[in-house]
Amino acid sequence: MNQSDKKILEFIKSSGINYFLQDSPKKWFDDDSKLSQISEHNIDKKTQIQKLIKDIHDHKTGLKKTAKKLVVYDGNLDSKIMFIGEAPGRDEDEQGIPFVGRAGQLLNKMLFAINLKREKVYITNVVNWRPPDNRTPTDDEILEYLPFLQRQIDIIKPKFIFLLGGVAAKAILSTPLALGKLRGKWHQYKSLNLEESIPTLASYHPAFLLRSPQYKKHSWEDLQMLQKKMKNE
Ligand code: URA
Repeated sequence: MNQSDKKILEFIKSSGINYFLQDSPKKWFDDDSKLSQISEHNIDKKTQIQKLIKDIHDHKTGLKKTAKKLVVYDGNLDSKIMFIGEAPGRDEDEQGIPFVGRAGQLLNKMLFAINLKREKVYITNVVNWRPPDNRTPTDDEILEYLPFLQRQIDIIKPKFIFLLGGVAAKAILSTPLALGKLRGKWHQYKSLNLEESIPTLASYHPAFLLRSPQYKKHSWEDLQMLQKKMKNE
């Protein structure tokens, strides 16, 4: 190759082209069957979430010292609905999956009551490491993890958000108001990276409902509001 050809190639390379037409077709993917199982859109979300999980894992935080496993999400990346809880508890910390303990079992029943299957929804928490002794995350910890939660919402782009408990409501609706004041009506979640705001409900946390079952009737009203709006979608 002469000097001038080399220069042209260098120029083409530096303009971002890294593949040239060849005589034989290039096999970009070794196993085409894998591609048909998962849409391109899905691969993209999966890649983005995996990168996010790595970023959360690498983020230096005091909580990591006492927790066992990182807990990010469970469910379906293409779900229309995202449920957001507070932080992992003991069982979640053991398994690395959100809402698998007693509160999780109640959440499963709540989903079933409105014809939603757990594997069809996206479930996450505000904080991704278990706080020591299951204490409530501090405001500083909520703020520390908020950018990661916002990134999840930007990636998943749910049509609806359902906030489970006061910590999730505080993080997403930026308000110190109690759940009694926030529940029973639609709010809007907006971020710079979303084209449209997302209709959002805040309601009681399943762990709270286990301790105070008299609030279940309000929780049921909120779930029905969600079901009705999802039907009209
Ligand atoms: N409580 C939460 O808020 N999240 C969980 O994952 C489990 C219990």
